[in-house]
Amino acid sequence: MPSKMALVDFGKCNPDMCESGICAAVEACPHKLLKQEVPGDIPMTNPSLCRGCGTCAQACPAKAIKIVTQ
Ligand code: SF4
Ligand code: SF4
Repeated sequence: MPSKMALVDFGKCNPDMCESGICAAVEACPHKLLKQEVPGDIPMTNPSLCRGCGTCAQACPAKAIKIVTQ
């Protein structure tokens, strides 16, 4: 059964668009599955646990997160 997951488009992600470089998508994930090492970094997803709900994608001001079916 296919499952959905978040994927960060590295070309579109621009942490400068986020307040203090803190990824808005990281803050938005209700399951705390996105990780950002330090402000200004591109966030990393957690494909094995991500539920593909899309909350992070909606929060990203750069529209850099896509929900894909794997
Ligand atoms: S993924 Fe979106 S919300 Fe997160 S740092 Fe990049 S631009 Fe900001
Ligand atoms: S799609 Fe949902 S579960 Fe997955 S990282 Fe985004 S907010 Fe979290």
